[in-house]
Amino acid sequence: MKLHELTIHEASDLLKKREISSQELTRAVLDRIESVEKKVDAYITIAGETAVKQAELADREISRGNISPLTGIPVSVKDLICTKGLRTTCASKILENFTPQYDAFVIKKLKKAGAVIVGKTNMDEFAMGSSTENSGMKTTRNPWDLTCIPGGSSGGSAAAVAADMCLGSLGSDTGGSIRQPASHCGVVGMKPTYGRVSRFGLVAFASSLDQIGPLAKDVLDCALLMNAIAGYDPADSTSVPEDVPDYTSFSNKGLSGMTIGIPKEYNETKGLDPEVSGAVKNAVKVIEDLGAKCVEITLPHTKYAVAAYYVIAPSEASSNLARYDGVKYGFRDKEKNSLIDMYRSTRTKGFGAEVQRRIILGTYSLSSGYYDAYYKKASQVRTLIMEDFKNAFKSCDLILSPVAPTPAFKIGEKIDDPLTMYLSDIFTLSANLAGIPGISVPCGFSSAGLPIGLQLIGRHFEEKKILTAAYNFEQATDFHKQKPEI
Ligand code: GLN
Repeated sequence: MKLHELTIHEASDLLKKREISSQELTRAVLDRIESVEKKVDAYITIAGETAVKQAELADREISRGNISPLTGIPVSVKDLICTKGLRTTCASKILENFTPQYDAFVIKKLKKAGAVIVGKTNMDEFAMGSSTENSGMKTTRNPWDLTCIPGGSSGGSAAAVAADMCLGSLGSDTGGSIRQPASHCGVVGMKPTYGRVSRFGLVAFASSLDQIGPLAKDVLDCALLMNAIAGYDPADSTSVPEDVPDYTSFSNKGLSGMTIGIPKEYNETKGLDPEVSGAVKNAVKVIEDLGAKCVEITLPHTKYAVAAYYVIAPSEASSNLARYDGVKYGFRDKEKNSLIDMYRSTRTKGFGAEVQRRIILGTYSLSSGYYDAYYKKASQVRTLIMEDFKNAFKSCDLILSPVAPTPAFKIGEKIDDPLTMYLSDIFTLSANLAGIPGISVPCGFSSAGLPIGLQLIGRHFEEKKILTAAYNFEQATDFHKQKPEI
């Protein structure tokens, strides 16, 4: 097996035994990036030089016997997580030349664990989108079919993991942006509970929904990354001082005693591709064979999730993005003489079409006279969605559903139709609105050879239960072992 194809846990074993060095591993990953990046376009910035230096440092630590599961492991990071001294663009023209002065909490954690950061991955501008086509830099292509989108907004991270251009990655999930690209690229992606991972240093899109999480080649790697990034951070007022369990200590003895809820509304979803529902049905059989009991549950307000999300997220975005005004940092249109003209022109030239659409939608729903009809109503719906989950979890441990209604679609297919694009988030948004954790784990392939993901959602802070179910499912199947030919 080639070094770049290793999982984190496999590579870590070899590093521990000194059979390979982090420098060899990092060079192999950088070579892999060089050979396939032209086709996949997963990265905005490749940090080859600093990565090699970090690898040297890691090798030194390993030679002293200091090795943690991420020491010397080459990973990538979505380009909206601040990295000190390394450009962080949010895939936006407005931050094209922005280099942060500090590391995000999760980056500090990764560095402390000895990980090697090979680069910053492409995404939809400010994480607004489901395909990476809204990137102000480029569109990433799905490694399984280069004419298809990789999903979004963490599409660069998912494609990079699937194409072995890093061993694991960090993304962010506001409405599905880790789980949906993971599903489309055939990798594992987890959105942790809101408050489980600090958002300090994550460029804000919708602050009550945003959460950082891992994308990985398998469930064990996902758990290893969770171990490294989870935890309390006083610098994020929504971070929760709850103990972090060892996410990797799951039992592989099947799922007996576990009850899995299957929402009846999900099967009634318009536009659900029969190949996706077929793969999910097969997954249910595997889960039952593993000893879990599957029961029907109801989430009656799911049908309002898309509408509520697309009021709440743009409202928060319109407020968060007010800071990009050409004054403090980022792009400024210097041609304009008056302050107002400078603001207008900077924001018109600096933001792409989707970001502008969201700012307009959000400003409208928050404005006086419309607030009650839109933002307040959407917040009330959000409460009902939270209650749906609370009721559902009275009769089950986890909830199972598809991640996305279809496999990856063609580049260009939905870009001129924002509403259709928004509707494809139907299965993922509710977990963000409720603040609960969810995972996407590979569960099949379409007849065209595109990956399909299974979603498992749990109660607040029950990531470990999700990982246990996902791990047992993964061990009983071999979808995660397939590799795209690029
Ligand atoms: N696709 C959703 C949106 O466009 C979710 C994005 C995300 O999770 N960052 O808002």
